[in-house]
Amino acid sequence: MKHISLLGATGSIGTQTLDVIRKHPSHFKLDSMSVGRNIDLALQQVHEFSPNLLSVQTKEDYDKVIHDVPSQTKVVYGEEGLVEVATDPKSDILVNAVLGSVGLSPTLAAIKERKAIAIANKETLVTAGHLVTSAAKDFGVPLLPVDSEHSAIFQALNGEKRTEIEKLILTASGGSFRDRSRAELENVTVHEALNHPNWSMGAKITIDSATMMNKGLEVIEARWLFDIPYEKIDVVLHKESIIHSMVEYIDGSVIAQLGTPDMRVPIQYALTYPNRLESISNERLNLWEIGTLNFSKLDTERYRCMSFAYEAGKIGGTMPTVLNAANEVAVAYFLDNELSFLQIEQKIEQALERHQAISEPTLKDIIEVDAETRAFIHSSMK
Ligand code: NDP
Ligand code: MG
Repeated sequence: MKHISLLGATGSIGTQTLDVIRKHPSHFKLDSMSVGRNIDLALQQVHEFSPNLLSVQTKEDYDKVIHDVPSQTKVVYGEEGLVEVATDPKSDILVNAVLGSVGLSPTLAAIKERKAIAIANKETLVTAGHLVTSAAKDFGVPLLPVDSEHSAIFQALNGEKRTEIEKLILTASGGSFRDRSRAELENVTVHEALNHPNWSMGAKITIDSATMMNKGLEVIEARWLFDIPYEKIDVVLHKESIIHSMVEYIDGSVIAQLGTPDMRVPIQYALTYPNRLESISNERLNLWEIGTLNFSKLDTERYRCMSFAYEAGKIGGTMPTVLNAANEVAVAYFLDNELSFLQIEQKIEQALERHQAISEPTLKDIIEVDAETRAFIHSSMK
C-alpha cells in the first residue's frame, strides 16, 4: 500500500490521479491533499477519500470549509499549507499536480523528508531544475515523471547508460492552432485557444500548447529530469499524439513509447514504478484504426516561444525562471482577455531581454527573480 500526498487535487491531473487511486484501493491511499479555490469539488473529494489533511488556498476558504469536513481531516491553508501536505509524515510519495512555480517550495520540502516525487508540475523544474535535481540526488529520492513525453522517455530509457544516448526526441501535437499560419494567429480568441485537438487539460497548459511554450518548458524539464544537454534534445511535430516521445541511441536504434492520449497511464506508471497495474481505461491502442502517423519539422519562426525556451535554457541560471514567470502571468492575462494571443510572446521576450541572468541561483534568488518578473509584467499592463 502506497500512501499519497496530492497537490492540486481539483485540477485536471489531480482528478485523474484520484481516478487511479479509486481504481486501485488496495494499492493506494490518499493521505493528504491540497486544492486552490474549487471548494465544492474539494469537499466532495474529502468526503470520498477521507484524507487526514486538506490544504486550501486562502484563509477565507479555510473559514468556509472548516465546519464541513469530517472530524479526522485537519484543514490548513496558503503556501505553508502546501508544504504541510507535501511533507505529511504518513505519505510515501508526493504527486505534485499543482499549477505554477508555487509548487517549488513544497517539492523541495518533500524531498528533504525523503518522499518520492511524482512530478506533473513542470513549472517547478523549469524555474529551479538545478535545485530540485541536486536535492533529489542528495536525499536519494526518485523524481518520477508524470508529463506524458517524459514518462515515455523514462520508459524508453529503461536504465540505459547516459553515454549511449544520441538524443531525446519529444513529440508535439502542435496545439489548437497547428493548422493556422502566423498571420492567422493575430486575432484568435481564448475560446479557440482552449480547444486542444487531442488532450483535455487545464486552461494554462492548453494555452501553452497553442503557443508551443509547453514544448519549450518540456525541453527544459527533460534537460533536468534526464541530465541531458540541450543540444541533444529535439522536438518533432506529430499530430496524432500516439508516440509520446522517443530516445535515439548512438547505434541508431530509436525506442518509442506509444499509447492513446490518456494522462491516467503516465500518472499510474509514476505511482506503480517499477511495476505496472491494469489501466483504468478500457481503450487500447488500435494502430490499424489510426492507419497513419504523421511527423513534420518544427518551424521556430512560427513558434517563437520554443526558441525563447531553448535560448533561456542554454543561458541557464535565472533565465528559465524569468521565462516561466513571464509566461505564467502573460497567459493569465490572455485568459482574462487582457492580452492578445501574440502579445503573450511579446511580454515574455521583453522580460527576457531586460534580465541579467544570475548563475547558480539560490532558492532566495529564484523566489526574488520570479516575483520581480511577475511585477514587471503587471506594471507593463498599466
Ligand atoms: P489545472 O489548472 O487543471 O489544476 C491546477 C491545480 O492547482 C488545481 O487543483 C488548482 O486549484 C490548483 N492551484 C492553482 N493555483 C494554485 C495556487 N496558487 N495555490 C494552490 N493551488 C493552486 O492544471 P493541470 O492539472 O492541467 O496542470 C497541473 C500541472 O500539471 C501543471 O504544471 C501542468 O503543466 C502539468 N501537466 C498537466 C497535464 C494535463 O494533462 N493537464 C499534462 C502534463 C503536465 P483549484 O482548481 O481548486 O483552484
Ligand atoms: Mg506533455
